[in-house]
Amino acid sequence: MARTRRPLIAGNWKMNGLKADALALAKDVAAGVSQAGWSDREVLVCPPATLVAAVADATKGSGLLAGGQNCHAKASGAHTGDVSAEMLKDAGASHVIVGHSERRADCGETDAIVRAKAEAAWRAGLLPIVCIGETLAEREAGKTLAVLESQLKGSVPAGSTAAKLVVAYEPVWAIGTGKTPTTPEVAAAHAHIRKVLGGLMAEAAGVRLLYGGSVKGSNAAELLAAGDVDGALVGGASLNAAEFLAIAKAA
Ligand code: PEP
Repeated sequence: MARTRRPLIAGNWKMNGLKADALALAKDVAAGVSQAGWSDREVLVCPPATLVAAVADATKGSGLLAGGQNCHAKASGAHTGDVSAEMLKDAGASHVIVGHSERRADCGETDAIVRAKAEAAWRAGLLPIVCIGETLAEREAGKTLAVLESQLKGSVPAGSTAAKLVVAYEPVWAIGTGKTPTTPEVAAAHAHIRKVLGGLMAEAAGVRLLYGGSVKGSNAAELLAAGDVDGALVGGASLNAAEFLAIAKAA
């Protein structure tokens, strides 16, 4: 079932931002989103957990959305230092990133854990952005498409629909490095992702597929024009309002 896929531009602030600077950044982005009045795309920022509520409150009504960078699979309990999807929702989040490669690498998150987190997002009423992507060694070994397929099969929950899932393709070697795949490489990866999703769910044609990895204002138009790219997950460049808004404009 083909359906219009509204582009999503998502900023992942990672572990950056203290209250004053983060709120100034959020307000600048929100002002740009509000001024543009986009109804044909969604713009989201994912601050550190400590700032989700403040950012959501400060940008309410602007059209800018706030999300989390991670959540625990459980709703509550003895999980010191973790944040549940319900807590993010309560703080004003609409989305949550799950399975970012930094968490897969730093925290040993497996596909099964990522899938449980995506299900937790649903339970709380959040839209999960499930991240997948190959390492440089996997790419050089010619395993990119196989890795993406295996991560998708392990990380995408049963019961996924176009409205309940966003997938972000983030080659690990492109994150924070200034390197990007060519647009035909991005298009090939996204076409494969959509094909694999087609075997997992009925509404694969409607799922938004984001590209992430060294997206900036100057390369956004080209990357976003690659086949099957429905938006971007942006790290470093999302910490600069003008740069992030330029990417949103290119969508
Ligand atoms: C990311 O961490 O999701 C990311 C894409 O980072 P960057 O844009 O800095 O490469």
